Amino acid sequence: MAVTDAPRIITSRFGHDDAHTIERYEATHGYEGLRAALQKRPDEVLEEVKTASLLGRGGAGFPAGVKWGFCPPGVWPRYLVVNGDESEPGTYKDRLLMERDPHQLIEGVLIACYAIGCAQAFLYVRGEMAVAQERIAAALNEAYAKGYVGKGILGTDFSVDIVLHWGAGAYIVGEETALIESLEGNRGMPRLKPPFFPAAKGLYLQPTVVNNVETLANLPWILREGGAAFAALGAENSKGTRMFAVSGHVRNPGVYEVEFGVTTFRDLLYAPVYGGGIRDGNALKAFIPGGASAPWFYEEHLDLPLEKAAVDKAGSMLGSGAIVVMDETTDMVRAALRVVRFFARESCGKCTPCREGTSWLEKILERILDGHGRTSDLDLLLDVCDNISPGIAWPPKQTTICPLGPSAVSPIASAVTRFRDEFEARLGGGPVPVTVTTKGGAY
Ligand code: NAD
Ligand code: SF4
Repeated sequence: MAVTDAPRIITSRFGHDDAHTIERYEATHGYEGLRAALQKRPDEVLEEVKTASLLGRGGAGFPAGVKWGFCPPGVWPRYLVVNGDESEPGTYKDRLLMERDPHQLIEGVLIACYAIGCAQAFLYVRGEMAVAQERIAAALNEAYAKGYVGKGILGTDFSVDIVLHWGAGAYIVGEETALIESLEGNRGMPRLKPPFFPAAKGLYLQPTVVNNVETLANLPWILREGGAAFAALGAENSKGTRMFAVSGHVRNPGVYEVEFGVTTFRDLLYAPVYGGGIRDGNALKAFIPGGASAPWFYEEHLDLPLEKAAVDKAGSMLGSGAIVVMDETTDMVRAALRVVRFFARESCGKCTPCREGTSWLEKILERILDGHGRTSDLDLLLDVCDNISPGIAWPPKQTTICPLGPSAVSPIASAVTRFRDEFEARLGGGPVPVTVTTKGGAY
């Protein structure tokens, strides 16, 4: 299959300027998935999603149908919480889904609520996403007015209310238990899990399913076309399509929906319909395959298919679907600092290895870049990493409440292992001038 033939499941309306309106949505199969769901029993809808083998699209890739099934039977009320607090560096796919096709998300929320048995859903949108907030609020008003949301939906006895909640811009609130704390009106800090996952005790300590925006956006298509049709697309362990956000030193940064397992990293970075190749004809130096916490990939990984199992086996992860490209001009010490500084700033401060460790890593890297690095600094960097995540293993061993702390280890381990000479060249060499780039110059 040519890369241009990729099926469009969740971006099918992106070509329309008015895709966010209910008129366009209804004219393009809108709310047909909900109607199909309401013809079935909730357990049949759950089975349809299990047949689809829909993996969560937030980053962890946990099967959505399995997660729904974790709600303890007979415990009510239960809630659906939509995680629209996307903020992993380089990740901006959910924002586009909320801005361009908000009804698709609302329909997905309704289908999930019907399957799980929820009468109340909460849609948590990142604070900075003003356009997404505006479009979702307008779409929700339209959906209420047309009887898709509220009491007695489409003449049935199924009723759901959806509450919108705007975040305040903290990365850590994308972690599901911190998001729940924030919804409850508390400071957004993660809870320890296990023993209790949100499916058992979440919002107000009731069973709560937390799903990512992209995950839910797939449901209308799955209910309309069938779980088997969805499962027929993609790779053995990653069904359907996925949105990938490509950023950094490519000619065409953007978000692209591709079929799992069919497209390779090379296609995504170099094909004219996707990334279009490295800027200025430069050589590729490294790329982050799935968000800032993922170990980096290099030229030799370009022919890996975009699917969970292959990327896991190669020692990294597809994570949130953010691919950040660094070309040959990239200063790898500075690139590592850039990622680590993000985690240090966003640490909620609850766990010592994360709070202290990420700040130490930031300070050591700054010292090296300022030309005051010591010969022992590379070992010290790795020692701090080892204290945050013993063995500096992948996937990380967790000494902290949530994965944020250990996420800071990957950029250091990747950069120091592969580009040690660049670090050594900096030790004791005096201050390094900042290189200002004008194109795609995150690093
Ligand atoms: P996780 O593996 O702990 O959990 C995944 C999901 O499965 C959760 O909803 C969890 O409640 C559920 N789950 C797992 N085991 C369960 C069990 N035994 N019983 C009931 N439910 C269970 O992962 P996580 O900490 O939720 O997410 C980490 C990922 O988030 C990272 O891999 C990263 O890629 C991603 N991430 C994404 C963004 C973004 O902006 N999209 C930001 C930061 C991190
Ligand atoms: Fe907070 Fe970091 Fe601990 Fe996560 S790992 S709970 S962000 S201190």
